[in-house]
Amino acid sequence: MLITRRELLAGLTAASVTSAVTDLGFAQSDVSALRIDAARLRQSLEGLSVYGRPAGGTFADGVSRVAYSDADIAGRKYAMELMRAAGAEPRIDAAGNILGWREGSDRSLKPILFGSHIDSVPSGGNFDGDLGSMSAIETVRTLKEHGVTTRHALEIVIWSNEEALTMGSRAAAGDLQPADLAKVYHGIPLADHLRKIGGDPINLAEARMAPGSIHCYLELHIEQGGTLDKAGIPIGVVEGIVCIDEYEVEIHGFANHAGTTPMPERHNALLAAAKLIEAVQEIVTRDPGRQVGTVGHLEVSPNARNVVPGVVKHSIELRDLSPEKIARLGDEIQKRAQRIARETKTDIVMKKVEHDPPAVATPAVQSQIEAAAAGLGLKTMRLPSGAGHDAQVIATLGPMGMIFVPSVAGVSHSPKELTRWPDCANGANVLLQTVLRMDRT
Ligand SMILES: [Zn+2]
Repeated sequence: MLITRRELLAGLTAASVTSAVTDLGFAQSDVSALRIDAARLRQSLEGLSVYGRPAGGTFADGVSRVAYSDADIAGRKYAMELMRAAGAEPRIDAAGNILGWREGSDRSLKPILFGSHIDSVPSGGNFDGDLGSMSAIETVRTLKEHGVTTRHALEIVIWSNEEALTMGSRAAAGDLQPADLAKVYHGIPLADHLRKIGGDPINLAEARMAPGSIHCYLELHIEQGGTLDKAGIPIGVVEGIVCIDEYEVEIHGFANHAGTTPMPERHNALLAAAKLIEAVQEIVTRDPGRQVGTVGHLEVSPNARNVVPGVVKHSIELRDLSPEKIARLGDEIQKRAQRIARETKTDIVMKKVEHDPPAVATPAVQSQIEAAAAGLGLKTMRLPSGAGHDAQVIATLGPMGMIFVPSVAGVSHSPKELTRWPDCANGANVLLQTVLRMDRT
């Protein structure tokens, strides 16, 4: 006898609405009690860490699994074997993304897509991307083991080349043109790299996912900052991925003899830059909030010990979830720059050269992540992501949510990157329970 979900739920009180129906038509008594296998998740992560490990090293020595390298190819093969064991037969799409499908009971519904990436930066850690990817596979494997069939199909994804280009996700979002593949990357055209991992550059468009074609996209990731670790909170609910405004500043003074030019007569471009750098710090920190501002690149000319600096070029980068806020901060810095120019008798030109829009996580998905964590007895806090992720690209295709787990001391993109095993398991369980909750929406 087939019981529809509505009939089933009608017989339950709100407090006990935790059941799902399998395609065999029987109620899974309590899917909210389902847990991933923490030991197996650890094994998967340790197994993956071998591909790209420094010679003679251990897990603690991190990994260099740069996209398209032999280590990447070997790691991808390993991940595909795990997908097979989870009952999600993997395929490689034209953009080199690995996708593993698990059928749902209602074929009229859109799939729930979830995963991350397994490529790393050179000398990276074993958690960035890996945790979300291995947890996605572990989630499906857990459901398989317990014979639970979701209503929506589930699709695991391991995006190709996240670290350098967010290449796979951008191709899926239709944000990558064939011309981009002609670009030379580490000595050879990107198209050739893509062929190496099983992609199909000629038919790149086949990797596109239509907007609205997914029920939602979920990604578990390490925070890569120290907020959760410092607060002692195991689960972060990502509010969104911040937008970035980048400026280029050019300061023109007058290069002159450092011994003969009296102090009051100097037009010192580096002194102006120093004042402006301090102004960035002051303006960005004046208001409460999580906005950040950075001057990270500086070129001094002539850059000589005995010459008053004549020209300085430097960057200013501003990040926050609110584009209005960083636009306002940029305006204030601009005004201050003109004041500093007058004070230092220099010319300052500050130009915005790039604007990356924010990707806001879908409120309804954020609530489901919070509810999933609460059901596991785990405290949560909402926070923005200061780092970029595939999720911000995929947010253009449908509802998006991200789960963060603590990075010890906020260290990432380093062999010292660490997320404690219980935190890894917590994150994977929140992912599993969020998938099950989203399946009921
Ligand atoms: Zn990552």
